[in-house]
Amino acid sequence: MENLKIREDIIQFAQKLNSTNLSPLRSGNVSVKANENNVDGFYITPSGKKYNDLKPEDIVFLSLSEKKDFLRWFNSGKKPSSEWRFHQDIYVNKVDAKAIVHAHSPHATAVSSHGKPIPAFHYMVALAGGNDIKCADYATFGTSELSKNIINSLENRKACLMSNHGQVAFGQNLKQAFELAEEVENICHQYIIALKLGQPKILSSSEMEKILDKVKYYKSE
Ligand code: 13P
Ligand code: ZN
Repeated sequence: MENLKIREDIIQFAQKLNSTNLSPLRSGNVSVKANENNVDGFYITPSGKKYNDLKPEDIVFLSLSEKKDFLRWFNSGKKPSSEWRFHQDIYVNKVDAKAIVHAHSPHATAVSSHGKPIPAFHYMVALAGGNDIKCADYATFGTSELSKNIINSLENRKACLMSNHGQVAFGQNLKQAFELAEEVENICHQYIIALKLGQPKILSSSEMEKILDKVKYYKSE
């Protein structure tokens, strides 16, 4: 089977979504940019299948220009994640996106239901790439409208919330994308606690400029 290792990595991180409760059972989805038979595209988790039941052959390959073709996928017994559009659009629009994690993580989802960006109440919001974490406007799951809203909110960012839905994060590999999704979840948890005490103090743009410079050299790998 072509690219077996990539398929196995996707399953490992999809199961981690479940075991860490970042996105339990079958919610969320995971993909990795790759090349199959000289076609540039990405491998993605199938739609609606429990992560603990995934097998390498369940992982679906789509090209970067694939258009909606459910009949063909259905006939082949393969159904890619319903969110394949925004995964495809992120790979097409973001050169540094090599892997994507979408999660319905509890605190990020709770914050997303307010449809507002997370301001710099903590300097760690810089991990998403700027001085706030945007929230993509609501649109029905699986639609190109949702994808457009996400691409807007990812301008100069590596992660965003998705209104009344969850969050999405990307990275140079699955480990990075998954870690960023974990960081966003943690930031949202802290933000909810901070809001219980009233309006938190927000760091200035000039302070966040310094932080954005420092976080580039923060991680040891
Ligand atoms: P899929 O099972 O189709 O990937 O859908 C899960 C999800 O999170 C939709 O937004
Ligand atoms: Zn979702």
